[in-house]
Amino acid sequence: MIINISNIANLPSRFGNFKIQAFQEGIKEHLVIFKEPLNDIPLVRIHSECLTGDVLGSLKCDCGEQLVQALDKINALGGMVIYLRQEGRNIGLLNKINAYALQDKGLNTIEANLRLGFQEDERSYEIVEFILAYFNIQKIRLLTNNPNKIESLPHIDIIERWPIVMASNKYNKEYLKTKKELMGHLL
Ligand SMILES: [Zn+2]
Repeated sequence: MIINISNIANLPSRFGNFKIQAFQEGIKEHLVIFKEPLNDIPLVRIHSECLTGDVLGSLKCDCGEQLVQALDKINALGGMVIYLRQEGRNIGLLNKINAYALQDKGLNTIEANLRLGFQEDERSYEIVEFILAYFNIQKIRLLTNNPNKIESLPHIDIIERWPIVMASNKYNKEYLKTKKELMGHLL
């Protein structure tokens, strides 16, 4: 797979002033949002796109709030958010909305994906290792509650795992419970 890489541009935002760079992998265009200078062991957040959570403020999941916390932390401490365009755990937006419709009928997030013929999580993180190598980063502090992300980066030395602490609400309570009890998230 050929990866096309953009130039680096400024991204002033309500969280602070960042640099931004795009990595195009086939039809997927990922983003790296980072603070300069990057230190030797930067804080890294790997965030998978969730349009409903990130943009619409959906309370069905914790993605939007996690992204806000990650950008805040990285603005304060340095590091990068790697924003991966794998919507809906990589089943795409249309399938994700169909999964939500099944959840409206009482299925949990895993059952809904399985009913639609997908695995519970279709995401992959190979591009992350490419991006970190491109930035010449071998060691990171990973901002995550998801231990699978640690396993999915075999060539990166993860010095520390920093949790993101989330408050639950009446809409995401079941989702967070499923993540913790059935998907091994450390919440
Ligand atoms: Zn989400």
